[in-house]
Amino acid sequence: MKARTLLESFRFAFLGGFHALRTERNLRIHLVAAVVVLVLAFAVGVPPADFTLLLLAIGLVVTAELLNTALEAAVDLWSPDYHPAAAVAKNVAAAAVLTSAIVSAAVGYIVFRDHLSSLPAALAGAGLVVAPRFTRGSHAARRLTDVTSIDADKLLREARAVRQRAYVPHSGFKVGAALLTKGGRVIVGCNFENASFGATICAERAAAGAAIAAGEREWVALAVVADYPEPVPPCGICRQVLAEFAPDMPVIMANLAGQRRTMTVRELLPGAFELPAAGHGEAAHE
Ligand SMILES: [Zn+2]
Repeated sequence: MKARTLLESFRFAFLGGFHALRTERNLRIHLVAAVVVLVLAFAVGVPPADFTLLLLAIGLVVTAELLNTALEAAVDLWSPDYHPAAAVAKNVAAAAVLTSAIVSAAVGYIVFRDHLSSLPAALAGAGLVVAPRFTRGSHAARRLTDVTSIDADKLLREARAVRQRAYVPHSGFKVGAALLTKGGRVIVGCNFENASFGATICAERAAAGAAIAAGEREWVALAVVADYPEPVPPCGICRQVLAEFAPDMPVIMANLAGQRRTMTVRELLPGAFELPAAGHGEAAHE
């Protein structure tokens, strides 16, 4: 049964894999779990390094399961009747599979821990599920409705498009923002720099200013896109500006690699500055 050609060795490997798949229920369960994990990873946009860890963990479990299957077959061949040593061999191999599964579950938890907040929105965006979000308060509930009912893809496309018009001779760092208003309008903004650096305006505030000038003060969602290692976070000044008008608005942060993350303005800026009641009432908005 020794493989003679490269092609034959591949064929034997496939036969082995197919046999294990057909006979081992646990392997099928692990593979289904692997597919679910990979779909989730795509949906929430985990960074490439984390994605690599998930692939390694999946490979570890599947490899352990295959070796366990091979060992069981070998033991059955050598010792068809019950033998204590055969039982030890099989049990230890099973322990190896269990260990790999526990380690992989830990890896999965660590990788997805930071993405839990964006998971419901990501799943809804992927059309997988519209799950209720079990967090306290009505803000979170409203946020879910907003995120699932808006077309995040369209908003991100608009932000990506306007990003091209950014004026950034000094940093070269282009950012695009698209603001969805309650009236259904999409108002875009890009960053523009200045020789006097402090005069630079971010994309988020450019969009905010354009919206205010257009008479649109009620904002439903904001998408921000830049070429950044992770979904680009708005700067502190912009967070404060957004908090003035839409503290519960979801901010969809993304990068050019397609990773995205959604957080509310309040989550981005806890304890935002607010003027005391006087001067901040209706009169201030008239
Ligand atoms: Zn900013």
